[in-house]
Amino acid sequence: MKIALIAHDNKKEDMIRFATAYRDILGKHELFATGTTGRRINQEVSLPVHCFNSGPLGGDQEIGALVSRNEMDMILFFRDPLTSQPHEPDVNALIRLCDVYNVPLATNMGTAEVLIRGLKHGYLDWRKIDETQGE
Ligand code: PGA
Repeated sequence: MKIALIAHDNKKEDMIRFATAYRDILGKHELFATGTTGRRINQEVSLPVHCFNSGPLGGDQEIGALVSRNEMDMILFFRDPLTSQPHEPDVNALIRLCDVYNVPLATNMGTAEVLIRGLKHGYLDWRKIDETQGE
């Protein structure tokens, strides 16, 4: 499965803790991330991550492009709801695309916990079936 990880600045420590706690599960999948989030996960959790641009420089849109091609299976996005973001339109666009394509999306750590445990137990395997149907 292809999983995207994004964390706003005030949530990056939470993301590192989350990725550390679920390192074994995440390590079985192909990971993508916005630039700063991805580099930190790579360096501090030792997981291979394909890093896009930083979020404010277009990283969320790059992930959105994969969603629009049905090439992203799950997004764990630790948003900071208390700080305004210069790239808020990009964030909203990404969330919208997840709704358009029915891509499982967590926007906080509580939901991310559910999704990652679901992933482990195979609850997202329908994504694999969908992938092959278009071919
Ligand atoms: P970053 O981007 O990982 O490059 O900090 C995240 C975001 O703010 O969307």
